Amino acid sequence: MTIGIHRPTQLVINRAAIYHNIATEKSRLKPGVELFQVVKANGYGHGIVEVATVAERAGATGFCVAILDEALTLRDAGFKQPILVLGITEPQYADLMATNRISATVGSIDWLKEAANYLTGDNQLAVHIALDTGMGRIGFQYPEELRTATEYLESSSQFNFEGIFTHFSKADAADTAYFQHQLARWQAFMAVLPVRPKYVHVSNSATSLWHDACNGNMIRYGVAAYGLNPSGVELTPPFELQPAMSLTTKMVFVKKLPKGYSVSYGATYTAQQDEWVATLPIGYADGYERRLQGFHVLVDANYCDIIGRVCMDQLMIRLPHEYPVGTEVTMIGEDHGKTISLQDVADYCGTIHYEIACGFTERLNRTYI
Ligand code: PLP
Repeated sequence: MTIGIHRPTQLVINRAAIYHNIATEKSRLKPGVELFQVVKANGYGHGIVEVATVAERAGATGFCVAILDEALTLRDAGFKQPILVLGITEPQYADLMATNRISATVGSIDWLKEAANYLTGDNQLAVHIALDTGMGRIGFQYPEELRTATEYLESSSQFNFEGIFTHFSKADAADTAYFQHQLARWQAFMAVLPVRPKYVHVSNSATSLWHDACNGNMIRYGVAAYGLNPSGVELTPPFELQPAMSLTTKMVFVKKLPKGYSVSYGATYTAQQDEWVATLPIGYADGYERRLQGFHVLVDANYCDIIGRVCMDQLMIRLPHEYPVGTEVTMIGEDHGKTISLQDVADYCGTIHYEIACGFTERLNRTYI
């Protein structure tokens, strides 16, 4: 993918904010509880290697990713810490994982048996058993299955039973009934576990922030590291999360539109009077969604509406008065006390900030401050 380094549009990533969000959570954990930073999806759009570097400094002792390739990216970048792939990797890559000391998530006995056929080298494959306590995504569903899997692992020299975990689907909600239901299921699984592996982990950001009584001895800390409230606006975090991502650009074209003139594809916007309009070099191919027509950006601490359809690479905004080409525009972030948050963008799009952050494409240049 080509990165747009010769245009004035960039995602600005604040390392100090990420550091603060991780180090503060780490300091709240009970002694001995480790923090693995979740850096899947290019560090939720913030840059996998850069985020991992800050996380390591802030006290993360391992990483979680979604797919094997992300784990290999971290190994290629020189990270030596434990890395857990949270998704199911095809068994044929078991040896590649073992060779690179990458831990696999296991959700069935069949997976173990199949992977065993591929483990031909000397290296053991470290595995974390996933328990489905109510997420309905991956993992063993019943305690008897867990017992069979642990017996299999005990009898095999090819695997190292390194971890066991579950994932809560509603830890970010004020109503805790479903969380309690999942917790009870987790406890029923734990009751049949003959030996506790090295890592026992149940917490994503929301679980760690709001349900710390059941943290296990490692947390999988994701979205909160990026300064985003996992619950959106429903729950208040126990400390201030500092957003790490801003999106800025500059006006590349400014003109006065006469009353009655229309803007962009479909001519969906027509000037009601003579208006100053600027064109910005960003569009939906950068992950700035087409649905953001009618939303706003900040110019000189003024909220300015996005008029007409967002194009693939450009969009137009209405200005309060003339500004010179090259004027700074804040699309996400703060401008003299006014802000546009990822949450604001997500609300306008009818989605969650996770989707907006990781939806920014590689074409957007990321700069680190
Ligand atoms: N653990 C698992 C299994 C996940 O799938 C995720 C993210 O989706 C996380 C942890 C991190 O979650 P969050 O970003 O909400 O902290």
